[in-house]
Amino acid sequence: MSADLSKFTELGLLPALLDAIADTGYTDPTPIQSQAIPLVLAGGDLLAAAQTGTGKTAGFTLPLLQRLSEIHNTRVTPGKPRCLIITPTRELAAQIADSVQTYGKHLPLKSFVVFGGVNINPQRMALRKPVDILIATPGRLLDLVGQNIVDLSKIDILVLDEADRMLDMGFIHDIKKILRLLPKKRQSLLFSATFSNDIRKLAHSLLNKPGEVSVTPRNTASELVEQTVHLVDKSRKRQLLSQLITDNNWSQVLVFTKTKHGANRLAEQLGKDGIQALAIHGNKSQAARTKALAQFKDGSLQVLVATDIAARGIDIDHLPNVVNYELPHVSEDYVHRIGRTGRAGSNGQAVSLVNIDELKLLKGIEKLIGRTIPRVDVEGFTGHTEAPGSTIVERKPRAPRKRSGNQRSENQRPGNQKSGNQRPGNQRPGNRRRKAS
Ligand code: AMP
Repeated sequence: MSADLSKFTELGLLPALLDAIADTGYTDPTPIQSQAIPLVLAGGDLLAAAQTGTGKTAGFTLPLLQRLSEIHNTRVTPGKPRCLIITPTRELAAQIADSVQTYGKHLPLKSFVVFGGVNINPQRMALRKPVDILIATPGRLLDLVGQNIVDLSKIDILVLDEADRMLDMGFIHDIKKILRLLPKKRQSLLFSATFSNDIRKLAHSLLNKPGEVSVTPRNTASELVEQTVHLVDKSRKRQLLSQLITDNNWSQVLVFTKTKHGANRLAEQLGKDGIQALAIHGNKSQAARTKALAQFKDGSLQVLVATDIAARGIDIDHLPNVVNYELPHVSEDYVHRIGRTGRAGSNGQAVSLVNIDELKLLKGIEKLIGRTIPRVDVEGFTGHTEAPGSTIVERKPRAPRKRSGNQRSENQRPGNQKSGNQRPGNQRPGNRRRKAS
């Protein structure tokens, strides 16, 4: 009889891992977990199409913890990890580190997380102790390798998480450098939400006869999340937003703006309307972002205004309301944004305030999600009165971005897996797709 893969107990996991899962309260594995866990436990390479929200982190963390506890051939030495997990942003790195800690709490494995944008010395110190699992962003990892603090010659398992984002962010050369430092004989897992030719090429160069797994997010845009468009003049968006929040008694609202400046301004304006709001984006200090996110998570802050980049990876279960104050330039970002709500099986509401200049973006989004989002009139805010193009705000020309060698723009901070999971914000160095953040 074949195993019932819809049960954690049937996936072949060690009791220590099943106990840790039971502690989290998860009852059943998600599809990516059912499919990926047996494959990875069997020692094979894996190519997985899965994005944040599918439960992919546990999908690779659980079996790799088991593999590492089963492979006895290596003595753990300082600076020579046996497993390397590479991920594009500090936010994701910190969340993975938390997962490793959570699921591995009954196993004697040591893990550590490193990312850039902060003082390297505490990381250098910490890596003097033995480490089994190193979670890292590419730039900081190479810095540590360059300083002979980390040696990748003993890696048994490699995980490339969010590979498509890493390529988008211009990390391909760093990734290639890292791959050259790894032993040929190893197990490799690659996760990516999308599969461009570049990702396929990378997968081909990195994986050996991989098992392939593909899942859609647990809440695709069409399920769980109720989506609405309000057509409104740009100049009246703020007023409409305040009214929606107040009239509907929204208690926890994540609002997306295109720019950092826009996020600041909106948070201030909402404040003037008597609505408690804070902005998070890459220009805010880490302390300010952590504080704002913590307050938002614990319910003491009603509105968090964020740019796409700052919000990437923010993991808040049961977030009820997401507002697109401005539509994103990249349609996929709409799906990521509304994926912040309706998570973990709860219903969520995503509202987009769309002015006439954004109709093209709206069409692109609707094409991507394969359906039309209902337009709903709000009394007093019906339709558009502005002519197309009348609302375009002039932007100052930007200096071209440079990125080379050690001049990394990873705005990342260190930390270890013991310091909680509220780590907001991340940056996308070398980001080519977005015009403003
Ligand atoms: P991920 O795709 O790894 O970012 O996970 C998305 C969210 O799903 C996180 O909040 C996890 O804690 C949660 N999650 C992971 N596995 C399960 C599961 N089997 N049942 C319910 N929630 C889960």
